[in-house]
Amino acid sequence: MNDLVNNILSLRRLNRRKIMVGSILFLVQTLVVFFWLTINAPIAISPAGSLAIALLFLVGSSYWPTIFLGTFIGMILADTTILPLFACALSYTLQGIVGARFLRTFEFDLMLSRLRDSVILVAVLACTALIYPSISFGMEFLFGADTLSHTDTFTSGLSWGSAWIASLFSTLIFTPFILRWAVMPQPRTFNVLMETVLTLGITATISILLFWTNTQDIGGISLAYFLFAPLFVSSIRLGPRMTITALTMSASIGLTSFISSGMVRALTPTELQALFQTELFFGMLSILFLIIVSIEEERKEKTKELEAHVSGLRTEIRELSDDDRLKNEFIATLAHELRNPLAPVVSTLELLRMREELSREALELVTRVEHQTNTVKRLLDDLLDVTRITQKKFKLRKVQASLRELITHSVNNAEHLMNANGHRFRATLPTEDVLLSVDPTRFEQIVTNLLYNAAKYTEHGGQIDLVCKTEGKNVILTLTDNGIGINPESLEQIFLPFRQMRTKHHTGTGIGIGLSITKQLVEMHDGNIVAYSEGVGKGSQFVVTLPIIVSENSTEIEPHTGNEKSPRQSFARTILVVDDNTDAAQALTRLLEHRGHTVYVAHTGMEALENARLFKPEVVLLDIGLPDIEGYEVARRLRSSGFRSKLIALTGYGQEEDRIKAEEAQFDHHLVKPVSLSEIEKLI
Ligand code: ADP
Repeated sequence: MNDLVNNILSLRRLNRRKIMVGSILFLVQTLVVFFWLTINAPIAISPAGSLAIALLFLVGSSYWPTIFLGTFIGMILADTTILPLFACALSYTLQGIVGARFLRTFEFDLMLSRLRDSVILVAVLACTALIYPSISFGMEFLFGADTLSHTDTFTSGLSWGSAWIASLFSTLIFTPFILRWAVMPQPRTFNVLMETVLTLGITATISILLFWTNTQDIGGISLAYFLFAPLFVSSIRLGPRMTITALTMSASIGLTSFISSGMVRALTPTELQALFQTELFFGMLSILFLIIVSIEEERKEKTKELEAHVSGLRTEIRELSDDDRLKNEFIATLAHELRNPLAPVVSTLELLRMREELSREALELVTRVEHQTNTVKRLLDDLLDVTRITQKKFKLRKVQASLRELITHSVNNAEHLMNANGHRFRATLPTEDVLLSVDPTRFEQIVTNLLYNAAKYTEHGGQIDLVCKTEGKNVILTLTDNGIGINPESLEQIFLPFRQMRTKHHTGTGIGIGLSITKQLVEMHDGNIVAYSEGVGKGSQFVVTLPIIVSENSTEIEPHTGNEKSPRQSFARTILVVDDNTDAAQALTRLLEHRGHTVYVAHTGMEALENARLFKPEVVLLDIGLPDIEGYEVARRLRSSGFRSKLIALTGYGQEEDRIKAEEAQFDHHLVKPVSLSEIEKLI
């Protein structure tokens, strides 16, 4: 009640905005009354009510007295008694207050970009459109039909239901229009502007043809249907503002055609009926396109969100893959750096082993340290392999090789572990040998990895069987153990890198990448590998299938004799060892000297060039990472100065591109640290 009084009293504090709101209502109502009087027929539009809702929503409900006053004065022209005058002004004001309050309560957003906003607007307008006909008919009922002269109100001659629809039509057309234009449009691009002009132009043309000419249809199809096309395009492409504008424009063209006829002569009942039908039609159209346009806006918003999400994900993926690349590079560098200190350890161990005065106990200790060093070496190799495979810096050097020889080598590699763990091992080969197109080192790595695992994950004194058989164009290797087995959940995971089954049997000598490398190597050979186990404690089985047919992709097909590993006759040489790591250089020198070779040492590239010139060595063991000149450059300079002796690169990097670089620098061989004496002697 206080609010009511305050709002009425606030009229005394008239400001520019209040005057503007009141004037708008006054002008609109005057215009409507003018039409009522001129055409002397109900035109069934009440823009004052629609305006009242929009304005009170935009400027605040406290403006209702201004609305009331504007409408009231606007009605005076109607030359009517006080009652209908009051009824009209009261209805429109009430419509405005209730409508604005509802819209605010439901947190209506006038951008109309959500379906809920369109639904709320339509529902609120449908409810508030009841007010005018109800008050008008209520008064007629209370005070008698004569009290409200028929020509004084737009409801005259209409039933209550029709009056409601007519009132609803007005609000559905005008309220969204005002609300949506209350927010200034964003600047549009030239293309959108052209599209807008074209769509509005087509809507206007169809509406003019439909309402202002005798062309009612094209080929028997009513022009009314053709209106759907530009409205649809507008709701999909141009958004709520332009769709509502097109609708308001089309409805105005329709109405003015009736008004202009009514100004010339009284409208016939059929024409009045058509006017009513037109209003109904536009009311329906408004509801339909308000919903379509808001659904479309929602979809656009969701698409934008999705695009933002996808671009966020892309950035994250990029960052992750960058991180992954850095991590791989770090692992590769780490593996390389750890190999360097291993080189003098290996050399020193070999040197110790050669000492004749070494006691049995000391020899056992050397063997034990050697075993651990080999394990570290193997782990470092695996680490390098896994990064190279994931970085796709890995190529197979396929040759034609005998299955029998390959298996024999692999079994030899794993034999010591089988024996150390007291396992019974049996290998069955096909009666007829077959040739495979494989990279022998990698094939042996596959089989050795599996044999090592079988030996590691089987309790002391276990039974391990390797069966190789041919089946059609494939060779199938089945490795079965009666070890700790694998639980079903882990079976799916064990081929992924860094996955280990945590069990009490875990030996702790692996880092969980062996099987991942094995699987990738098998797949690079066009084969596949599957693991089986009935569960923990029930043993495991690994089945590798590889094609026998020589692959068409195999680059170099040359017989693999397996002889590469047999050491050549060793005899004394003059050797220049070049390594900036003094420990490594010293250990290797002592080892070579112990074997009777004459050894000179250099710690820098310049020193190496100088010593090579002075001592004319038959072999140069050249480290690549030197403090002054890179080993490749030293090799190049030696070759260009006419140096013809054997050049062997000694490096911690064993990657494909390092081998290629070594070849390009005219090295004869490329060895990856740590190297054993036998490896060097095989080459010199
Ligand atoms: P690592 O042996 O270094 O842990 P692998 O990739 O070779 O890594 O093996 C992954 C895991 O698969 C192992 O940790 C082990 O739990 C399981 N596994 C591999 N081979 C066997 C086997 N023959 N029997 C039981 N478990 C095995």
